[in-house]
Parts: sequence; structure tokens; C-alpha cells
Amino acid sequence: MTARILVVDDIPPNVKLLEARLSAEYFDVLTAANGPEALGICAEGSCDIVLLDVMMPGMDGFEVCRRIKNNPATAHLPVVMVTALDQPADRVRGLEAGADDFLTKPIDEVALVARVKSLARLKVVIDELRSGASKALSPGAREGAFAMTADDGKKGRILLVDDRASSSERIVQALSPHHEVTVETDAHRALFKAAEDDCDLFVVSLGLENYDGLRLCSQIRSLERTRNLPILAIAEADDRTRVLRALDLGVNDYLARPIDRNELLARAQTQLRHKRYADSLRNKVQQSIELALVDPLTGLNNRRFLETHLATMLDQAQRRRAPLSLMIFDIDHFKNVNDTHGHDCGDEVLKGFADRLRGVIRGGDLLCRLGGEEFVIVMPNSSLEIAAKVAERTRSAIQEEPFVIDSAGRTISITVSIGIAGRGPDSDPDSLYRRADRALYRSKSEGRNRVTADAA
Ligand code: GH3
Ligand code: MG
Ligand code: MG
Repeated sequence: MTARILVVDDIPPNVKLLEARLSAEYFDVLTAANGPEALGICAEGSCDIVLLDVMMPGMDGFEVCRRIKNNPATAHLPVVMVTALDQPADRVRGLEAGADDFLTKPIDEVALVARVKSLARLKVVIDELRSGASKALSPGAREGAFAMTADDGKKGRILLVDDRASSSERIVQALSPHHEVTVETDAHRALFKAAEDDCDLFVVSLGLENYDGLRLCSQIRSLERTRNLPILAIAEADDRTRVLRALDLGVNDYLARPIDRNELLARAQTQLRHKRYADSLRNKVQQSIELALVDPLTGLNNRRFLETHLATMLDQAQRRRAPLSLMIFDIDHFKNVNDTHGHDCGDEVLKGFADRLRGVIRGGDLLCRLGGEEFVIVMPNSSLEIAAKVAERTRSAIQEEPFVIDSAGRTISITVSIGIAGRGPDSDPDSLYRRADRALYRSKSEGRNRVTADAA
């Protein structure tokens, strides 16, 4: 995991120090001595994360942060504000300016690595989602989908794992005014809860008495259901070795004892904001992928979905030496329905037709709308003979039961032509489809309203 870090500070020795430490962790480092220079680098798209000094002559860090976050082209860049330890008010101002995280001067090396790694990890997630979305979304839609949403990082559901009552009480006291906190003293139960409950943040003491906190972190990271759950580790004072191990295991952030209440709140808030951002991206990508695979009129899967899945279904059938049949349905003289009753009624017929076909399929079958008034059903485990029977039953049911086309209950009768083909030894999806289509063509040319099976 690498990332390009922009270090912004007006004092050259500060820049040098950060540059050296980050380079040692194999990050690529860029530097800027003032706000305008930093904004230029951000706008070019040359960096992934910004480390921003608050105190700079001319444009201060808050203003730089605000400008980064207000420019749609740079708003997604995570910004870490570097503040003086004795200025807790800076945190609030930084949050208001849109900062994603904080570091206090003098900069602690472990803290620096922790913050930057955590943000680099977030970037990896976002990049993955971006590439997922780019397959499904138009460039214009993509921009909108990735805009950062304002979130205060409050009202989180936090699971705290700590087996020392005095410690957990203090943590709960600090977090509970803004969040819903559940305490768990047993590591196994905590793991179970994290996987079952829908919690947003896992806070774990690395100094558990009856379990290795690091092991628990690693288990959280490896379970499918908790892979994306942010982890905030509570470390013993000066236990840098374990903190570094924790960060390597994928822990998102840490705090050292004695716990500073405000620091705890700020860290929890930052993790919650990042998680919600990633979750919302994930949902948008999921939605856009579904949209790309589902026909909006009928809710059936579309041609693209069929193209992606038919080859796999054929492979499986071949490996099991099982039959597989494909049927193509094409409504007869459908153009007349539109011409006589209007396009909207045509749509109603298509929806009704889709519903009839839904009633035909069984689990494991694949039903899609190819486009227009053409539909396909793929039936694994069905021989051509069985498929022919199903097709014939469907055909006669379509002919016999008219379709309702409006709220007044008017109906029209339609018929359908069907072509079917069975899997050959080659298991080639194109050839299977072509044979079914040829059979459909015969149904049409021999008078419509009939089923034809591929002769091969
Ligand atoms: P054939 O029996 O040879 O299949 O005749 P047909 O009229 O059904 O076939 P053709 O392919 O000539 O016409 C299909 C019609 O389906 C034309 C098109 O306007 C209509 N159509 C395609 N998609 C939709 C849709 O989403 N809604 C509606 N209402 N009509 C559609
Ligand atoms: Mg047609
Ligand atoms: Mg037709």
C-alpha cells in the first residue's frame, strides 16, 4: 500500500523531518511551503493525502483545507491537520474546515504512520470502488457519486472490548453522550457480536487480561462480515511495538493511555465519518451495478446479465454432465399492440408477460428480458423434452389468459412464439443461443403461436 503524500509547512526543517519519516515507510512525498503552492499541487491531482500545517503566514492551514474541500476536483483528498498540542480549539476549527484527521506537534512517529496508513487504506477502498463504478457509471454520474457527503461522525454504534471495569467506564463516559456504546468483556463474544450486530466502530483494548487484543484485531480483519469494520485500538502508554503490530494488522487508529477524552471523541468521529463515506460509496456502486444488469421496466435481468452468466451455467452443466436448455420467447405481432392501444399499454403487456414467466421458472433457472418483446429462460438440469413441455404449457397459458392493460380492467389477447435448444457437447453459449434463435425463427415463419425445438 503506497500513496503520494503532500507535506505542507512553511518551516523547511519540519518539511524535511516529515519527508524523511514518510519516505522510510515507502510513501512518495511531495512538499509545499505555503497554501497557494499546496492548492496547485492538489488541483493537478498529483497527491493522495495532504498533511497540512495550521500555522502558516499568508493563507493559514484552515483556509487551505476549506479550499481543498470546497473544490469538487479536490474535495475527496483526505486532509490531516498538524496542530500545536496546546490548541484543542484548533481541532474544532479543523473539523469545521473539513479536515479528516489531526496530528499534534511535536509529531510522534507512530502517530504519523498510523494516520497516514489509515488514510492510505481508505484511499485503496475508494479507488477500488471507483474502478467498480467506472464499469457501470457514466463519467458524469461518477463525479456525483464520489462527492464527499457531510457527516458529523456522531450517533455511531460502538462496540467496546475492555475487561477492566475502571477503564471501560471512563471510555463509555466519554463516548456515550454522542454514541451508543456496548461493552463486552469477553473477546470471543465480542467477535461474535461484531459479526452479528451491525456496529460501526470496534474499540479494543490491546491490554486485555484474558485474551490477546492483537489477535482479536486480526480476527476482525479476516472475517468476511467484519472486514470493513473500523478498529480503534487502546494501547498501554509507551507500548509502541504493539501499536505498530496493530497498524500492520489493519487497525485503523489508536490512542495511548491515559485516554484523553477529547482525543478519543475526535478519533472515534473520524473513523465513523470514513466508514460512512466508504459505505455510501459501496452502496452507490452496488446500485449502479444492479441498474446496469436489471431491466427497469420489468425488473428482470437484462441481456448483459445473461451474457455474463450463461457461460458459467454451461460450464457447470458440462462438469456435472447435466442437461441445460435455453428458450427464447418473442411476442407475436407486438407492434400491433403498441399501434392499436398505445405504447403505455404495450408496456403493461410486457410487465404482465414478465410476471407470467416468473411463474414458470424454478430456483436455479435464469429469466431475462433480452430487449423489446423478447425474453429468455435458461433451465439448468432440464432436457430439451422437459423444456419443450414447459414451453408448450406457457404458450397455451399466454394464449388462453388475456392481459389486463389498464386500471379499468380492459384486456387484450396475445400469443407468443418460442424457440428452444439444448446444450450440445461444445457448451458454447453463442452456438446454443443461435440454435434457439433459429428454432424461434421457424416458429415465426410457420405461423407463430408455437414452440419449435432445435433439431440438432
Ligand atoms: P413478430 O410477430 O414478427 O415478432 O412481430 P412484432 O411486431 O412482435 O415484432 P417487431 O420486432 O417488428 O416489433 C417489436 C415491437 O416491440 C416494436 C417496438 O416498438 C416494440 N417495443 C420494443 N420495446 C418496447 C418497450 O419497451 N415498450 C413497448 N411498449 N414496446 C416496445
Ligand atoms: Mg422481435
Ligand atoms: Mg415479436
